[in-house]
Amino acid sequence: MTADVVTHEVLNQSTPLADVNLYSGNRALRDALRFNAPALDDAALVALGAEAGSSAMQRDARLANTFSPQLKTHDRFGHRIDQVEFHPSYHALMARAMHHGLHGTPWSRGAGAHIERAAAFMLFTEAEPSVLCPISMSYAVMPALRSNAALHADWSPGLTSTQYDERFLPFDQKAGLTMGMGMTEKQGGSDVRANTTRAEPDGRDDWGVRYRLTGHKWFFSAPMCDAFLVLAQTPAGLSCFFLPRWLPDGTVNALRIQRLKHKLGNQANASSEVEFHGAAAWRIGDEGRGIPQILAMGAMTRLDCALGTAGLMRQALSIALQHTSQRQAFGKRLIDQPLMQNVLADLALESEAATALALRLARAVDRTENGHDEHESLMRRVLTPIAKFWICKRGSAFAQEAMECLGGNGYVEEQGEGVMARIYREMPLNSIWEGAGNIMALDLLRALRGGPVADALAHETAPAQGAHPAFDAMLARVLHGLDGATEEAQARRLARDTALLLQAALLRQHSTDAVFTAFCASRLADASDVFGALPAGCDLNAIVARAQFH
Ligand SMILES: Cc1cc2nc3c(=O)[nH]c(=O)nc-3n(C[C@H](O)[C@H](O)[C@H](O)COP(=O)(O)OP(=O)(O)OC[C@H]3O[C@@H](n4cnc5c(N)ncnc54)[C@H](O)[C@@H]3O)c2cc1C
Repeated sequence: MTADVVTHEVLNQSTPLADVNLYSGNRALRDALRFNAPALDDAALVALGAEAGSSAMQRDARLANTFSPQLKTHDRFGHRIDQVEFHPSYHALMARAMHHGLHGTPWSRGAGAHIERAAAFMLFTEAEPSVLCPISMSYAVMPALRSNAALHADWSPGLTSTQYDERFLPFDQKAGLTMGMGMTEKQGGSDVRANTTRAEPDGRDDWGVRYRLTGHKWFFSAPMCDAFLVLAQTPAGLSCFFLPRWLPDGTVNALRIQRLKHKLGNQANASSEVEFHGAAAWRIGDEGRGIPQILAMGAMTRLDCALGTAGLMRQALSIALQHTSQRQAFGKRLIDQPLMQNVLADLALESEAATALALRLARAVDRTENGHDEHESLMRRVLTPIAKFWICKRGSAFAQEAMECLGGNGYVEEQGEGVMARIYREMPLNSIWEGAGNIMALDLLRALRGGPVADALAHETAPAQGAHPAFDAMLARVLHGLDGATEEAQARRLARDTALLLQAALLRQHSTDAVFTAFCASRLADASDVFGALPAGCDLNAIVARAQFH
């Protein structure tokens, strides 16, 4: 036998989904965008769609995740340096995300900016989600930062700049800035009141009252950000502080990075454990009012969790559609096998419903940040926990089913080339961080006390009332559950039902009859616990055709 004997020909394998326009090819996203922002010029999204779907960006995503960040606590002479080194592809992705204004930029623009950014965030997630952690945090800190006018004035130009500057330098020497957040400590994450980090007053300067912080943070992502909003205890209670890596006098602040976390996924993003050794920090807002500040940030990052999961779902669905359109089994393309069609159609419904609900929340954010609107304000408050809970909760099951559409190839990563495995490992994260599922469901119960939610939901869902018997039955059930009497133990049930109702109402308004009817039949009339069990009579062909690249 010689080494060049040909044992087999490679056939019946699908091709990678690359060099496609993720925006132009996504009918569900374009329809949802037209509904929520009819006047929006989508030229920038077309450009981003092409970039995010390019093989060049896919290569950066693979490399940034394969060569994960490395912590350097000391230099070779023994000096403490507390820096994290990233692969150049990480920096390339950060630069593109900031170029497209996914971080602080919408805060410096007018109406529509948050919706456009939301769509862009979904598209970028399809390219690479890990780098969006510092991008999302930089977006989220902006409203809280306004509570300290001097800091806001000095830092907002850098935070809204579209230039990425990876250098470890004081803020006034950099072309662009990013920020992170530090709440979670060892003894409590959801229950931030249990924080033990202490803040001692240490004088006053141009940025207001200065403190010295002593304590730790157990999860502290993207520690190479230029500054962080952190929580610490003062005699008046939990308060919010601005903690920069560099101090105004040009020295490095006393933030020690202890180690990086070894995570299930999200490999390109560095998540660390840190200690504050008398680190200087400036107060944001009033002493003892840390929780409202953090909630303002959390509301924005929760939006991003919903958007990010919707983006990942779309990516997984697109890959599944690509594979099943090319792979043959039992004499037919997989996509033409009736049962596979049912699975793909069901995934398409879920993906479109996630996109619809996440963008609806983005509209509420946009409207309330650019004017006063009571209905939108109430919807924003209620939709945030609902969308974060339900969309993220569906993510992992979705990824598993999309992976299965690829058979064994779906489970194989091959040095980062098999993207499904990366999506699968990333999915649970959006459900856990920024308020895990139970915390979101309990937050919905709190939100019900914020105003006439039942009236708002009746108004919001009016266009779909009478369109399907299962919708009307679910509406009656949900409205009944909004009377404020729901027990804690039933909070997930209420969050799920409200999410499904809102998703159906949105699909009625900006999707097709086939999608709306199948969604009601499979999720409102009959709550299936497995994808691919759409009841007979659903127009599977039409649903799958809508989800395919156009
Ligand atoms: C990769 C990664 C990066 C992160 N980065 C950051 C970061 O940069 N900054 C930061 O501050 N944090 C960060 N976090 C922390 C994250 O926000 C927390 O892990 C999360 O909020 C949950 O807190 P916990 O881990 O302390 O869990 P716990 O609060 O102990 O919760 C555990 C479980 O109990 C449930 N639970 C809690 N209270 C109740 C209740 N009253 N009733 C019913 N159920 C309840 C929760 O829903 C959850 O399922 C990160 C986490 C991860 C995984």
